[in-house]
Amino acid sequence: MKHRIVVLGAGYAGAFSAGYLARQLHADDFEITVVNAEPDFVERLRLHQLAAGHELRHRPLTEVFAGTGIRLRVARVTGVDVEHRTVTIADDEGIDRLEYDTLLYALGSTAADHGVPGVDEHAFHVAARPAALRLRARLDELGEDGTVLVVGGNLTAIEAATEIAEARPGLRVGLATSGELGGWLGPKARRHLLRAFDRFGITVHENTRIERVEEAAAIAADGTAFVSDATVWAAGFAVHPIAAASGLAVEPNGQITVDRQMRSVSHPDVYVAGDSVFVIGENGHPLPMSCASAGYTGTQAAAAIIGDLTGREIKATALTYVGNHISLGRKDGIFQLVDGDARSKPGALCGRSAARVKSAIVAVSGWAVSRPTFGKPSHKYRLAATRKHSADVVAA
Ligand SMILES: Cc1cc2nc3c(=O)[nH]c(=O)nc-3n(C[C@H](O)[C@H](O)[C@H](O)COP(=O)(O)OP(=O)(O)OC[C@H]3O[C@@H](n4cnc5c(N)ncnc54)[C@H](O)[C@@H]3O)c2cc1C
Repeated sequence: MKHRIVVLGAGYAGAFSAGYLARQLHADDFEITVVNAEPDFVERLRLHQLAAGHELRHRPLTEVFAGTGIRLRVARVTGVDVEHRTVTIADDEGIDRLEYDTLLYALGSTAADHGVPGVDEHAFHVAARPAALRLRARLDELGEDGTVLVVGGNLTAIEAATEIAEARPGLRVGLATSGELGGWLGPKARRHLLRAFDRFGITVHENTRIERVEEAAAIAADGTAFVSDATVWAAGFAVHPIAAASGLAVEPNGQITVDRQMRSVSHPDVYVAGDSVFVIGENGHPLPMSCASAGYTGTQAAAAIIGDLTGREIKATALTYVGNHISLGRKDGIFQLVDGDARSKPGALCGRSAARVKSAIVAVSGWAVSRPTFGKPSHKYRLAATRKHSADVVAA
């Protein structure tokens, strides 16, 4: 019987890692199955664009995995039983159970509601394609007249507010954040950000904590009611509750706790990559949820699976965090580098050139993930007779 590897999620981490595994493992010994809720590889980095009204290119997973030998199940994962090594999935046909020998968990994250009442019922978000499409439909309903309040002051809130303001100039767009808008940015980038918000006519409410969302308003801690026809909740990401419910060891924020090889510390036959994983980066700080982190953790997890199952040394993938690229609509942007302590450097690339850099990074990421075997070294490693979980990684 073949060794069954099941990959949960075909986003930036999952699709990339599945391709890597398919390229290196012998098809006679290994069977790789990928489960994903959507039939496409969804470029999550562009979901604020989708919500604002732009179209996304369709990247069907059947094409992404064509010729790789990977089996695809388009279904929703509803639970993982790490004791019995099974995954419960649901699709139009009903409920099914997949058995695995090795699991790669890469289900990403969703919008974090922070327990704020009314978010689930009344707010919109852009953390997944169906949610972004719901927001888009609401913006279409509003047409040229309406008020949109974006809640959050970090990357996704900034990108969503500016994208909507640019694409829908008839709408009144505001942003409420519990801290300072882009307060973590270096002085040059922050000045640029505030000028851009001013240019777009976005009203900024800083030091404003939203404590309740209603159908047509968001209520702040001091009782102020912000009238809003569409409240966009962009106050951070959280890992799907499936991880914690499965019995895997998780951090207080729900991310799965792993060792340096991305193996779950509680269940070493489960590997984790992308937004779902909690791991300390080279700078001594938790690796942020990002596309780059998905690439590093996906590469490390795939290398560890190959190493553990075929008896090879596991090469270390550097877990670095160099900075953020932020779009401000389609023609403006910020590229902010950080230092070795994850603090923003004073300078930054701003304006049209930063927008071009961002656009190139997003395009290259989408291209690379939708060709997950391209350029990867090809091997036909066999399953080792005895398997061990190597405690070490060696320099790449
Ligand atoms: C609007 C927006 C803009 C962003 N911009 C940037 C940026 O500019 N730069 C950056 O670095 N990061 C950005 N991010 C963050 C980045 O998208 C994530 O860090 C990255 O997608 C993480 O990769 P992942 O593979 O862990 O998750 P994902 O790419 O989200 O992949 C997870 C996959 O799992 C699937 N899935 C989820 N739940 C289930 C389930 N129950 N059953 C089956 N399948 C499921 C999803 O459909 C998806 O295909 C942005 C995020 C958003 C929402």
